[in-house]
Amino acid sequence: MTIKTILTEPSKILRQISLPVEKVGKEEQILMNDMLETMYDAKGIGLAAIQIGVPKRIIVMDISKDDKKKPMYFVNPIIKNKNSNYSTYEEGCLSVPNQFAEVNRPSECEIEYLDFNGKKIFLKASGLLATCIQHEMDHLEGILFIDYLSKL
Ligand code: ZN
Repeated sequence: MTIKTILTEPSKILRQISLPVEKVGKEEQILMNDMLETMYDAKGIGLAAIQIGVPKRIIVMDISKDDKKKPMYFVNPIIKNKNSNYSTYEEGCLSVPNQFAEVNRPSECEIEYLDFNGKKIFLKASGLLATCIQHEMDHLEGILFIDYLSKL
């Protein structure tokens, strides 16, 4: 596994829209392993492929609080349903160093995606998991959390 350089604002690459992955193969698995290693090294809880300059719809996350690692892999994630209730979390981003802000997002969402082995998964997310996956999926559209703030 290789630790990659994380792109930061105002890199134009972060604003690209990422493309769907055709199938989860060796190349994608190596990418996911590198992303995870990079994320752990940076002490983050989520990373999208575009943050290391790869415009593919791939996300890795680990929101476990203890020392046991619980990596999650999301390929081609799609939000199927969103709660109309919102919750607020203070968010940060490895691509926006040293900035934190409260962001409102639907408190629950249902996601369909492919896992590390290309298996289709349907997941109901709430709490931090819901917030984090929505933050990461924004990266796939070239959106950063600070974009919500400038609308105020
Ligand atoms: Zn981010």
